Amino acid sequence: MSPSVWSSMKSIAAQVIILTRGRSSRRNLKALGKFIVALIVMIMAYTFIFHLIMDYEGKEHTWLTGLYWTLVTMSTTGFGDHTFETDLGKVFTIVVILSGTLFLLVLLPFTFIQFFYAPWVESQAQASMPQSLPENEREHVLLTQLDPVTEALIRKLDQFGHSYALICEELDQAQRFHELNYRVMRGDLDDPETYEAARFGQAAMLVSTLSDTADTTVCITARGVNDFTPIVTTVEDPISTKIHEMAGASNIIRLPEIMGMALARCSSGGDAITHTVASFDSIHLAEANAAKTPLVGKTLKENRLGDLGVSVAGLWERGTFKLARPESVVGPNTVLMVVGSEEQLLNYDEHFAIYGVSGEPVIIIGSGRIGSATAEALDARGVRYCVIERDARRVKNPDITIVGNAADPKILEQAGIDTCPTVIITTNDDDTNLYLTLLCRQSNPNVEIIARCTLDKHVRALHKAGADFVQSYASIGASSIFNLLQKSRVVTVTQGLDVFRVNVPNEVNGKTIAQCGIREKTGCTIIGYHKENSLESNPRPDSVLERGHEMLMIGDWESRNSYFKIYNIS
Ligand code: AMP
Repeated sequence: MSPSVWSSMKSIAAQVIILTRGRSSRRNLKALGKFIVALIVMIMAYTFIFHLIMDYEGKEHTWLTGLYWTLVTMSTTGFGDHTFETDLGKVFTIVVILSGTLFLLVLLPFTFIQFFYAPWVESQAQASMPQSLPENEREHVLLTQLDPVTEALIRKLDQFGHSYALICEELDQAQRFHELNYRVMRGDLDDPETYEAARFGQAAMLVSTLSDTADTTVCITARGVNDFTPIVTTVEDPISTKIHEMAGASNIIRLPEIMGMALARCSSGGDAITHTVASFDSIHLAEANAAKTPLVGKTLKENRLGDLGVSVAGLWERGTFKLARPESVVGPNTVLMVVGSEEQLLNYDEHFAIYGVSGEPVIIIGSGRIGSATAEALDARGVRYCVIERDARRVKNPDITIVGNAADPKILEQAGIDTCPTVIITTNDDDTNLYLTLLCRQSNPNVEIIARCTLDKHVRALHKAGADFVQSYASIGASSIFNLLQKSRVVTVTQGLDVFRVNVPNEVNGKTIAQCGIREKTGCTIIGYHKENSLESNPRPDSVLERGHEMLMIGDWESRNSYFKIYNIS
């Protein structure tokens, strides 16, 4: 038998199995069967009555003629070769025509389509959709839904060559995602067999970003299969953290808190001192506002920040990150990404603490989960703030909250838009955030605007509208999950900027940092060098790189990728 014939036979067999396997499929076939039996009984009864009435009229016909007459009349073909002469016969003919029209011409096609044809088409589609992953699938990421966070995560996984599979419960959803080129597998999330088929035991992790309750079901079901594959869930309500833990989740990501912290971290709060955004052993990465300091208008080379012990890894210019170069000019809106040990950063702060201090509170728009988390993070930093919240029921701290719509210029004025150093816009609607960004920029051209955004595709529009920093929920969520997968090899410090550890590549063994040309070739900066059990922050250009030692690097996505490509890191 040829392979193509064999494969089409296999596909027909799969369709027949799917068509007859499920409870609903069996119910459909039963309903269709009942209808056909009723129709046969009706035809037989009419054939019998035909004989009785013809007998009554004194005519004799074979049984086959009776069946022939019944079918011709029911289907309204009406050849007219056998007719009744009595009124009784005519009434019977009318009954047969009407019931035939209803049963044969209306109900039969509908019943056939609903109970046979549609399930058959569905079974064909199901048979074409993968119900399992290959047996040798390993280190893949399993996802339970496609949402802005997992969409951004899939982009990251693709960039790093990680395989993934999206488990879809609904067939039409699976088909839609399949057509959009996502790797899809069909299966019920509350069925342990789905996880067996998805090779959960060999997966790098299972990521469930459904509702807090649905994630619990996923955890419990998957844990029934094994208890070692990491399961990552996201929670909206902090109370669910404990429940997810009990259900078997290994990492629970509280996105509103992470988002709030990220928004607060962007805020200069009006001062020029450093604000740490991430730490790696003894090395800290901090942001510092250059506004109103003597650094403005000069290049990094002229500013000689190295004399204070710190190095500048990059510059944020109204939300756009640029890697630092000696000739990079510090502007009035520049935020410096400074790297140093605690001591080096303190040294920096001592020099710049006197600049840019604003006694005015920061404005937070929105007091939902993210707005509240932002307020808590600002509290922790000792930054004063006031809140504008439209919905009086959501007010957390009435003493510092103005109840009203931030889209009303009078409310913004009342909150102090003219003099405040920073506005943090945290509403859950990207359109509103865009509108408020434009309004705040128009009200105060110098205010620092930090905006929350749900979808990555709106980041650019918010920047265009005048936001200095935009934190996207999707990117932050995806990075938080991705960092877990990388087991801290790559840590996303802030949107578009990663810190990662690598071993000194063979190609630069024995060369000094100045000679190796890593920065020139890739755009990445070495911010730390492990040597004799100690981590040297901001290693000097004449430090010699030796094989077997580790470097801490910083770079944006592009530069990190080119580093991985040039030095053959998979
Ligand atoms: P969440 O999505 O939980 O972070 O909530 C967003 C919060 O922003 C809600 O409390 C909304 O009432 C609030 N909000 C939305 N639009 C405005 C607006 N134009 N002015 C003030 N507050 C707003």
